[in-house]
Amino acid sequence: MKPIIYDLNLKELTDLITESGKSAYHAKQIWQMIYRQSAEDPSEFSNLSEDLRQKLSDRFCFKPLSVEKDLKSADGQTNKFLFRLQDDRKIETVLIRYTSLRFPTINSNDTMTESVLKLERERNTVCISTQVGCPMNCAFCATGQMGFIRSLSAGEIVAQVVFVSRLLKSKGLKLGNIVVMGMGEPFYNYDAVMKAVDILCDPKGMGFSERKITISTVGIVPRIEQFTAEKHQVNLAVSLHAPSNAVRDQIIPANKKYPLESLLEACRNYTEKTERRILFEYTLIHGLNDDYENADLLCRRLKGMPCQVNLIPLNDTKKYEGSGADQDRLQSFKSVLDKNGIPCTVRLKRGIDIDAGCGQLAAEQSS
Ligand code: SAH
Repeated sequence: MKPIIYDLNLKELTDLITESGKSAYHAKQIWQMIYRQSAEDPSEFSNLSEDLRQKLSDRFCFKPLSVEKDLKSADGQTNKFLFRLQDDRKIETVLIRYTSLRFPTINSNDTMTESVLKLERERNTVCISTQVGCPMNCAFCATGQMGFIRSLSAGEIVAQVVFVSRLLKSKGLKLGNIVVMGMGEPFYNYDAVMKAVDILCDPKGMGFSERKITISTVGIVPRIEQFTAEKHQVNLAVSLHAPSNAVRDQIIPANKKYPLESLLEACRNYTEKTERRILFEYTLIHGLNDDYENADLLCRRLKGMPCQVNLIPLNDTKKYEGSGADQDRLQSFKSVLDKNGIPCTVRLKRGIDIDAGCGQLAAEQSS
């Protein structure tokens, strides 16, 4: 198998190119062709010599992902891509379009073209995977239910974003946000995930803003501590789902290793050291974690912490019996948080008809 071009950061690419007798300028050109011009393979690197283009395609894999399926939700707002990797393993990536009704403010010297309006009204978010399967085994998550196969390389993570942004670009659209909330536990593949972030945010290439990236973790305490110490601008989300060990233990096996007290301490420390808010995901499961007691305890646990709680109605998965909280319980739960002054949003259900909702990603694997 050839190494994936997206696995390299600019320095590594420059070293390789200069070792082969070419100048650093060539490396920069290649970098820009890939990450700025969205070129798919060396045949499109028109500013490079035929010889260098040939060497590049002999040496590197430029298409680490092949589209096996491209599913579109009935409302047209969500696409789920099933990708085959070089070793025939499969992952899923989701593109979600949020259309806001807010019209843009047009300055007098702007031309009010359709595309300006379109760009302003559409927020495109990609949800990317970091592993094939997941080792965390959370009871209600389809990815956990399929088990763990392997971690993705930085390049396989980057390639998902490159694919989606190229697709959007071909339609005159832009990628607005990246959420690292697909298959896998990003903090169990920390180095590759952070390398991917660096590649995507390199100002000489795609130049994506770290602030528009959110990484979600089940709560791997040592990695939260490392993430805190490294002072990234990337947003941190933590899948909390319960305010007590008694409840959390039932749905998240990792809670045994990193119990709530140590997790919340790491979270509090993160908000203090970075002066950033943390996002807590909380999936409401009927009769388990969605009553007044849980809401009240959650408020006490989070008191004084700069945070936001994102309530996620449970999505169905094959191997979990529990059902989602109904609308009444969801609203009552939210009102307890509102009363306690804890910012709280309800996540929109998207792509459920194509199993692209939170926790529904589970590519069938051919081994
Ligand atoms: N492993 C990471 C990244 C996955 S993000 C993490 O745990 O944060 C996916 C989010 O969807 C997590 O918050 C996860 O707990 C949640 N989720 C999993 N299964 C779900 C389901 N069936 N319904 C709703 N949310 C679910």
